[in-house]
Amino acid sequence: MDWQAITARIEAAVAPHIGSGKVADYIPALARVDPVKFGMAIVQGNGEMITLGDSHEPFSIQSISKVFTLSMALRLYGEQVWSRVGREPSGSAFNSIVQLENEKGVPRNPLINAGAIAVTDMLVAGSNRDAMVEELLTRFHRLSGDTTIWIDEEVAQSESATGSRNRALAHFMAAFGNMANPVEDALHAYFRQCAIRMSCRQLARAALFLAYDGCDPINRDRLVTREDCRRINAVMMSCGHYDNSGDFAYRIGLPGKSGVGGGILCIAPGHGAIAVWSPGLNASGTSMVGAIALEELVEATGWSVFG
Ligand code: GLU
Repeated sequence: MDWQAITARIEAAVAPHIGSGKVADYIPALARVDPVKFGMAIVQGNGEMITLGDSHEPFSIQSISKVFTLSMALRLYGEQVWSRVGREPSGSAFNSIVQLENEKGVPRNPLINAGAIAVTDMLVAGSNRDAMVEELLTRFHRLSGDTTIWIDEEVAQSESATGSRNRALAHFMAAFGNMANPVEDALHAYFRQCAIRMSCRQLARAALFLAYDGCDPINRDRLVTREDCRRINAVMMSCGHYDNSGDFAYRIGLPGKSGVGGGILCIAPGHGAIAVWSPGLNASGTSMVGAIALEELVEATGWSVFG
């Protein structure tokens, strides 16, 4: 693979678009980010890392955390996870409540807010609200070999202060008996997991196990079973970008998860993990420039799972 040519191609494709899209502004700590940032890291199974731009700069991973909490829950609870959340695309916005009533308090999938709150609730039930997030953080430290990854407490507090909608989702689920803990405990953990800051390098490295059947190819840690790895990737492909998931699959054809901090994590099974970050979002909360960079990457490498 001629990585020099590929990175030059990606840089040329994103250059005219840098700064486009709308930076998330529902909390001041996210709105403050410099909109012209762009970073990307591609990590392969042998540990080789290709980086572009601001790949070292930590950003708020937000909903990308949902992939990792899902993998923790599947490991702890196996099939039981699917009694608390479904695995169908929602076609709705990340924080939508509309489907919850028809589905009797069982969210459509674990990658929309309601589903992720239910997954976090399961993890809190197996531990406690602070230990659960510590465990996630420790997992990131170990997988990326970098103990500097941290929780931005200002972001976590602002998420909580402005979290009426997430509270509504959690209470609605509780009304249907789909919460195991006091709502505030699950939300406390959820807001903090979203507020973790990581760089593209750290994030791509931490997700490498998802490209290699659930086992980290470098330190040989098995994080999830081969079957669950395949299932997590399937859920990312069908549900990873809210009401934009179909378009993302069409354009990029890789399992992925977006976050409103402007990050996108993508898995190229058997090839590697990719993290890209650029804060300007499209209307569905997916990084505009990030998606363009990924489109170029799959064109150049042929890594799309659809060939
Ligand atoms: N913290 C955000 C929320 O729960 C995450 C949304 C996202 O990244 O898509 O509203």
